[in-house]
Order: sequence, then structure tokens, then C-alpha cells
Amino acid sequence: QAHLDGIAKLNPRLNAYVTVTAEKALAAAKASDERRAAGQVGALEGIPLAIKDLFCTAGTRTTAGSRILDSFVPPYESTVSQKLLDDGAVFLGKANLDEFAMGSSNTTSASGPVENPWSRANDPDTRLVPGGSSGGSAAAVAARLALGATATDTGGSIRQPAAFCGIAGIKPTYGRCSRFGIVAFASSLDQAGPVARTVEDCAILLKSMAGFDPKDSTSADLPVPDFARACERGVKGLRIGVPKEYRLDGMAPEIVALWEQGLQWLRDAGAETVEISLPHAKYALPTYYIVAPAEASSNLARYDGVRFGMRVTEPGSDLRDLYERTRAAGFGAEVRRRIMIGTYVLSAGYYDAYYLKAQKVRALIRRDFENAYADVDAIVTPATPSAAFGMDEKQDDPVAMYLNDIFTVTANLAGLPGLAVPAGLDAQGLPLGLQVIGRAFDEETVFAVGRALE
Ligand code: GLN
Repeated sequence: QAHLDGIAKLNPRLNAYVTVTAEKALAAAKASDERRAAGQVGALEGIPLAIKDLFCTAGTRTTAGSRILDSFVPPYESTVSQKLLDDGAVFLGKANLDEFAMGSSNTTSASGPVENPWSRANDPDTRLVPGGSSGGSAAAVAARLALGATATDTGGSIRQPAAFCGIAGIKPTYGRCSRFGIVAFASSLDQAGPVARTVEDCAILLKSMAGFDPKDSTSADLPVPDFARACERGVKGLRIGVPKEYRLDGMAPEIVALWEQGLQWLRDAGAETVEISLPHAKYALPTYYIVAPAEASSNLARYDGVRFGMRVTEPGSDLRDLYERTRAAGFGAEVRRRIMIGTYVLSAGYYDAYYLKAQKVRALIRRDFENAYADVDAIVTPATPSAAFGMDEKQDDPVAMYLNDIFTVTANLAGLPGLAVPAGLDAQGLPLGLQVIGRAFDEETVFAVGRALE
């Protein structure tokens, strides 16, 4: 009830939730109280969470931030949200996001933009973005409108909003969480993960979300470790890699200083820091912005006005006209841009030059990490090249927007776990994050390092 009261008060300004399921939440809380009274206490018993509106929730509208799914009520539950329910969590509602998770500012949602709760701290007229695409999830947690939230990360959509909102968020290893029931953006990159106030809270949530699922052929059949316990391991004796290619010209000096500070904390706690090289990292962003739109153009072909959601048709018109009208009215500008880029790079004349080339570069990026991990246990970088920016900035310049993801996309291309840790504030008092990237399926080390940077 306290969370619902907070939502009623703050959500009109923040727009972090697109759907608030107040009645269901109170009924679930009551059921949880009864289980508790009967001595059945799940790992997340009674914990109020927000669910990114990309996760299908049985009987609750799931929009993916798009007009085209405005009226879509899934008949089934995503595996990840089901696992949270099985552990006793209470869902407060569905969190806003960029349309189909495409974006870095949560300004492309059909339900309108989300405001960063850190906005207007010093300047009452400045409305800042929460980051994207999981901007609603991050804003809800930062504003205390949920204790944690689910999110997804295809190129940074967990880590960048977490950094902008001063909270923690982890994109686990590709395959750690099932993608079943999550609206697909780019299937070889998409991963679910939690955002929460602390690294330890993320560890607790991830333990509940992760695990093998026969309904997702890319889900990993591996045991799920006790991530919360791993937070207490410490970093003594660990070797931490610092990639020299991440020292970008023109990066905010406060971010450079925070990075140095974080490395010093790790050395003080007994870790060793070493410079490493990821020579192909500079190609990661262009590679991502070929692979992700290519897969998106294929995944979004299913929104045809016949099978899901919205349908726009004229009496007497043919099937092609139905497709065109539905997709033109249903998709926003950024989604249309991605579909056009994706179909272009996959088309017969350009496939070798763009898509195939991008796949080859992706293999080189993955190999860079394999080489690095022969020598180090984890890699530490900034999470983003800047703090949260204003809501009207970068909106007409897609490339400036895409540059937000410069530090995050590599982990997706290589399938590796990446954790954003709230590590400091800039001169304006806005949060800044550091990122810990680990070996595949070694989230435990990532959590241990992240805990030392908090
Ligand atoms: N900002 C990136 C994009 O727009 C990443 C989005 C994501 O991780 N879902 O594609």
C-alpha cells in the first residue's frame, strides 16, 4: 500500500509505470501475508517489484512501449516473471520503456517519456532523461516506487539507465535468464536482468530470475550460484583489467576521476589493476548498430495486423494494404528507422558488406575478451560517457543518441555479464556509474567486484 501511495503521488510526474495493477498487487500481498503466517516464506516473499513492460504478464496488458501492442493482453507469463512470482514477489505494475526497447533515453515510448527522479535537483526547469530503454524500471526503483524491477539489456538498457538513476543493474551472461515470454528485440543480444538499489539486492533478484528453461533453446543448463553470498567474497588477489581503448577523448573529467577512484578502492581492498587492450572495441558500436537492427527487422515482422495487437484496415482493401496501414500507424519513428536499417543490411546486395562483416567483427570482439580473461578476472570501465542529459537533447541526432552505448554494447556482442554500480556524483550532484564486466557465467566475481565499488 505504501508503494501504491507513492506511485499515486509521483507517477503523474515521472511516468515510470504505464500500468499500475493496484488491485492485483494488494490481493497478492494478502496472499503473501497468508503464506508467511503459514510459515511458507519464499526468497522474495512480499517484495514489491515493477516489471518492464516487455515481459509478458498473463492477463495484464503488455505494450512493449508501442502503439502496435497497445491492447495486447498476453495469455501467458514470461519465465522470468513467473519465477519471481513463484518466490513470493508482488508485482505493482508494468514499467515504461523505449518502444520495443530501442533507445537510450526512454523518450520513444508510445506512453510518453519518463522523467529521471534526480531531475530538477538544482534547477527546477531541467527535466532529465532516466536513460533507456529500461528507464521506467530504473526511475521506479530510484524514486522508491518499487524495491526492485525487471529490465532487459540488448546493448546497455539495464546498465545505462541504472547509471543515470544512481542505482545498480546487471545484465547477466547471455543464456543465464530465459528469454521466453519477453518481447524480442535482437535475439542474439537480449538478456533479462534486475535493477535495484544495491548490488546485493540485484544479486538476490537475479538468483530468482535465472535458470535453465526448456522453452528457450539458448538458455544455459547450468546451476544458479548463490549470488548474494558472492557479494561478500571480497576482491583480494583478483586481477582487474583496465582497457586502454575505453579512455575516450572528450569524456567528462568527472567520469575519468571516478574510474580512477574506483580502481584505487579495488587496490585498497587487495586487488591488482592492470592495463589491458581490447583492440576491436572501437568497432563495437557500428557492429552493434548493424546486428541489432538486422535481428529487430526480422523479429518485428510478426506485427502484421493479423496476429497481435492493433489492426488498421479500410473496407475493400487487400492484405498488403492492411500490413502497410497497421505498421505505419503502429510503429514510431525510431522503430521504423531500425527496420529500414535492418532490412537494408540484410538485403541481397549489401549482406556481405554489412551483416556478414559485422558478424566477423563480432567474433573478433569476443576473441579480444577471451584473450584478456587469460590474464584478468574482471574488467572495470565507466558505465556511460556522461551523466543523465536533458529530455530535449540528442532527440534529432540518432548517432549522438547511439553513442551513449559506447561502453555497454561490447558485453552484449560478447555475451558477457556486465554490472552497473552507482559509484559517485558529478559536480551537479547527478549520479555516475562504473561497470564491471566478467567472464561468461562468472557473475559471482562481477558481484564481488561491484560490491567493493559501491
Ligand atoms: N540503446 C540501445 C539501442 O537503442 C540499447 C537498447 C537495449 O539495450 N535494449 O539499441
